[in-house]
Amino acid sequence: MFEAYTKSIFINGIWHEVKESATEIVYNPATLKPITQVSHASTKEAKQAIAAALKAFPAWSKKTGRERSKILYKAYQMMYEDAERLGKILTMEQGKPLKEAIGEIKGAAHFLLWYAEEASRSYGEWLPSSVTSKRLIVIPQPIGVVGAITPWNFPSSMITRKLAPALAAGCTVVLKPAPDTPLSAIEIVKIFERVGLPSGVVNLVTGDATAIGKELLISKDVRLITFTGSTEVGKYLMKESANHVKKLSLELGGHAPSIVFADADLEKAAKLVLASKFRNNGQTCICTNRLFVHESVMNDFANLLKEKVQKLKLGDGLAANTDIGPLINEQACKKVQFHVEDATKQGAIIEHGGKPWNTEELSGYYFEPTILSNVSNEMKIMHEETFGPVLPLQVFSEEAEVIDKANNSDYGLAAYIFTENTSRAIRVSEQLDYGIVGINDVFPATPEAPFGGIKQSGLGKEGGHHGMDKFLEKKFISIGIDN
Ligand code: ADP
Repeated sequence: MFEAYTKSIFINGIWHEVKESATEIVYNPATLKPITQVSHASTKEAKQAIAAALKAFPAWSKKTGRERSKILYKAYQMMYEDAERLGKILTMEQGKPLKEAIGEIKGAAHFLLWYAEEASRSYGEWLPSSVTSKRLIVIPQPIGVVGAITPWNFPSSMITRKLAPALAAGCTVVLKPAPDTPLSAIEIVKIFERVGLPSGVVNLVTGDATAIGKELLISKDVRLITFTGSTEVGKYLMKESANHVKKLSLELGGHAPSIVFADADLEKAAKLVLASKFRNNGQTCICTNRLFVHESVMNDFANLLKEKVQKLKLGDGLAANTDIGPLINEQACKKVQFHVEDATKQGAIIEHGGKPWNTEELSGYYFEPTILSNVSNEMKIMHEETFGPVLPLQVFSEEAEVIDKANNSDYGLAAYIFTENTSRAIRVSEQLDYGIVGINDVFPATPEAPFGGIKQSGLGKEGGHHGMDKFLEKKFISIGIDN
């Protein structure tokens, strides 16, 4: 599927090699076998990419929304129709089961569709003036060159969720994908190339995160950085952006609580909690990281979970019957193991799983899907993001008590509640300190709706018409007229 070397730098419409620099090997996390190598770009290529994006900005921003929409729509069609092949590439570099990868590609394509539709709907305002000698107009204008830094856990949809609204708004982009997963980024850029996106509108630089990031931060030409990744890197970007008062959009970590009330449909809730926890092997910022179950149903619910977890099959994501793939790398596996060890040392009981897993053929970083009970608040797993397949269970007795427990976090991305009582569902979701609440729903991310966290989970929203806002400056034009 790949040559030993894949060109990965795309600047001003041309694929470049960076022969003089080091290359980076892309591994399949299921087998730890190399897939291909890509260029390891640095400051020089980042500067060139920014210059190309700046040069392309005037023409792209002057196109009508309808013209930009047509290109986005073609990209949507091409991506959707190629979902199977793109899904295989995604699984090979990232590890998630193929059915999840194909689902991600289709979801990624839907961001292109949604913003193809939004491109011609960025409206201005005509404001009523308090004096008769003035007319007041607000017009939306694209912010300029955008630096997009994306993570490895959703290597395709995190890119289109940023690029689609940026392009729809009339911005040009320098994209820096995660080093573990450059291939999905390359495929997306190839799609834009094939559908005739003008040169320089999207530029791709794989390589040295710190050097490329720094260039995006210090360049006065980059007006906005849109980032999805760790809270640690998000804080660094925020500090460094202060020098130029650069605009930022940050999608950071999460520590989602799931609450199962006594009046929940337990069978349905167990299925959904499992999907929330073990999709992408727990490597999603909105996945359940703490599970609170009402005391009256704890035993029944724990048994339901165990019964279902036992059926989950670990393996290579490309194998037809795999439910859970490998973790992305060694560091991720060590963190999961550390959280389990820390919890058990403090009294947690392993109800299922609890250790790394391998076969001779599958030497990647696998970890058994794990359920912990007897969990207490002091354990790291109850306040740090695990980003892996471990589900800690805690019991609660009162509604107010569990709301307090759920809100006891520096993060505020997503929370889930399971109940068949509508009043409770509304009452509790209004009190949860989270940017997103799922009621009997663990898949809230969708192109039509705003996705984003509060507290240390981030700044700004992606998705929906809200997702266009950060790419558009609202210019106010004040006109004096003779009456
Ligand atoms: P994770 O720990 O999940 O890999 P990171 O926040 O480290 O999350 O990575 C998310 C994205 O941020 C990746 O594309 C990564 O290369 C990039 N990144 C990491 N460090 C920096 C940095 N100092 N400046 C800019 N981007 C960075």
